[in-house]
Amino acid sequence: MRLAMPRTTSRLVVAAALLALAWILPTVRRQLIEDVTTWDARPSEPAQLPGGDGPGLSPVAHTRVVLIDGLAADTARTLPVWSAVCKRGATLTIDVGFPTISLPVESALWSGLTQQQSGIVFRSDRPLDPALRGIPSQVPGSVAIAESHGYIVRSLGFASVQPKPDPADAARDATTTDEVSFTPASGGAPWSREFVAAATRAISSEARLVFVHILRVDTAGHKFGHDAAEYAATAREADAMLDVLFAADPSARWFLLSDHGHLPAGGHGGEELAVRQVQGCVIGPGVTPGLGSLVHVVDIARAIADSVDVKLDPASPGRPLSVAMRLPLSSQQALPNTPLGTGGGAILILIIGLVVTASAVRRWSGAPWWFAIACASLVLVRGEPTLSMRMIYKPHGQTMFITWLPALAIAFAATWIALRSQPLWRVLVAQLAAPFAALAAALTVCGAWPALLGAEVAPVVPRYTAWSSPLLLIVAHGAAAVALAVLGRTVQSAFGRREPRETRRSDREAA
Ligand SMILES: [Zn+2]
Repeated sequence: MRLAMPRTTSRLVVAAALLALAWILPTVRRQLIEDVTTWDARPSEPAQLPGGDGPGLSPVAHTRVVLIDGLAADTARTLPVWSAVCKRGATLTIDVGFPTISLPVESALWSGLTQQQSGIVFRSDRPLDPALRGIPSQVPGSVAIAESHGYIVRSLGFASVQPKPDPADAARDATTTDEVSFTPASGGAPWSREFVAAATRAISSEARLVFVHILRVDTAGHKFGHDAAEYAATAREADAMLDVLFAADPSARWFLLSDHGHLPAGGHGGEELAVRQVQGCVIGPGVTPGLGSLVHVVDIARAIADSVDVKLDPASPGRPLSVAMRLPLSSQQALPNTPLGTGGGAILILIIGLVVTASAVRRWSGAPWWFAIACASLVLVRGEPTLSMRMIYKPHGQTMFITWLPALAIAFAATWIALRSQPLWRVLVAQLAAPFAALAAALTVCGAWPALLGAEVAPVVPRYTAWSSPLLLIVAHGAAAVALAVLGRTVQSAFGRREPRETRRSDREAA
């Protein structure tokens, strides 16, 4: 009895500590999501593009850029006007880099600096203030007109921008759009009519640079998903707008662009190829018609800069169009590399976690199978986590944790059974060291520690930022399941059930 009391106490303390962790980690997750979607990242190295020498586009008097927000490559190929205009010029596949969010991608398009170089990686509803010092700010009289979400074009440094901001909130527009269907005949809702009319006026003006941002396709993507008929129908409406716009100055140099695609069920932000690689076309004076291969969005920045005769930031990796078309990227080349420091640190943490786990596990059945099964269940049911998925950002994460609930029963059962014959410390290490190490490694590789300690910095890297969201919950839930098993055993002994002989043997072994 003298020995049993401290053991009961230590078990209670351990269970309470695990339950406290299970309580705290979901809060840490919400903090991480807030940091990801709000702040800028520390500027870092861009992806390396194949270099070479060659001529850029010649300057022209009129450059016209239309960007259809959220238009996926496979949908663009079905649009009659888009395809007909593209046939008159060079059709390219454009990798928009990572992450695939409108403001960061369009900042790369108009500055020539990748998301990693600028640190602009998300900034949900946070306009750039001051605006970007990129191409538009160097072109007197440059004009941008957005269908809605005007804070994006207002962030880019154009001399004249529509719509104007809501005086009370710079992220909102003074003119609101109700995005109803558009055909040239119907003209759509009041702002649709006004938007296309204003854009047409700008395009047929003498302005050297005009940018038109069509937003309805992205809205449809979020609402219905890429695979829905509504998304395709909305893309055709955008195509009808393009028909009107192109007719306003068909002899200009045109860029038809998109900033990202959409997942089948809607969503973007991650590194999926179908989201990251979009179709784009350059048409007009000096452009040889034909099919080009994969280029980077900063190459398009360079092409626009050459077209309006201004210089990009010397740090821009953007290449002259002839070089970009001659030296295409490989499919993953636009993704930023994992920095050596954080990557190495993460691998070290993983190795320590695995070694410690291996030293504590006595039988194969005592390994943390629950964790492997939880991760596998998530991937099997929902797919590999990416920043395009809504579930990553949801405050409670039910869509995710419903998939790993059965694995928690395994964590409980494994702990319960192991405590019959093994000391508490050994069971805890066996069940939790590897999961905690995996979580710490993920947080390390995305550079999340400063953010979690209060720094206003966005820990955004491919794959691991997205994985951190479910991992924080899986580890929290696993800790709770282990804590409940420990509590259960403690209650069972407190009510005086005789412990089996093996326990005493293992206690001796432990001592
Ligand atoms: Zn969107």
